[in-house]
Amino acid sequence: MNATTQPIVRMQGLNKHFGELHVLKEVDLEVTPGEVVVVIGASGSGKSTLIRCINGLEEFQQGELEVDGNRLEPHGKSGKALQKIRTEVGMVFQQFNLFPHLSVLDNVTLAPMKVRGWSRDDAEENARRLLDRVDIADQADKYPTQLSGGQQQRVALARALAMEPRLMLFDEPTSALDPEMIGEVLDAMRELAKEGMTMVIVTHEMGFAREVADRIIFIHKGAIEEQGPPEKLFDNPQNERTQSFLSRVL
Ligand code: ADP
Ligand code: MG
Repeated sequence: MNATTQPIVRMQGLNKHFGELHVLKEVDLEVTPGEVVVVIGASGSGKSTLIRCINGLEEFQQGELEVDGNRLEPHGKSGKALQKIRTEVGMVFQQFNLFPHLSVLDNVTLAPMKVRGWSRDDAEENARRLLDRVDIADQADKYPTQLSGGQQQRVALARALAMEPRLMLFDEPTSALDPEMIGEVLDAMRELAKEGMTMVIVTHEMGFAREVADRIIFIHKGAIEEQGPPEKLFDNPQNERTQSFLSRVL
């Protein structure tokens, strides 16, 4: 395997417990560069925990996990690798988590200046380009509370992209949005997918998932039950649990 086909995420036999609760069970997951993986499953099945393990927001107890060649150790003993992963992996959450006391522009320039050491000029130029890309350049000087939810989520996306991530993680990015704003956020994500960004997305937007995903992963009670290309998984699921889940959400 050469450098270009090396997986960005390589997870093997991952187990995660919250006390007595066995939340992730022997999870194997490889994500290759440019791949868009959508994770689906019932509430409480472990989707958030799975993607939070990928950027070290949650510790795991057993298994192997490498993100872009950086190895995360069980029990959170990762040190430098963890710092590296945090700078290389962008994440967009259900709640937008913008800094309320900073303007839109400053939200996007902060990390590149602080973490990457970019000059203000460089960071601002890049931020304006990204804000334009998510169609929100005219809001640069506003504060988060002055924006709609859909606009805030697009700022959150621009902010994550400003770090030039190798991988983007999304945890139900449209679940907190009013219905009329879901489309604009999905559009921005669709663009990103087209440009070749490697993405792992937890979403309940099944139409979107079918359209952008290279692979759908169905997770049930912390274990991957079935996975495959969208047309196979949605139209011809093999597993009874997948069938039952899909019959409830489609
Ligand atoms: P999903 O995102 O699929 O809804 P989660 O990954 O959030 O599922 O949660 C999986 C399981 O782990 C649930 O039973 C949840 O209650 C539990 N859980 C999640 N976070 C914690 C935590 N910090 N402490 C204890 N249990 C947790
Ligand atoms: Mg969740």
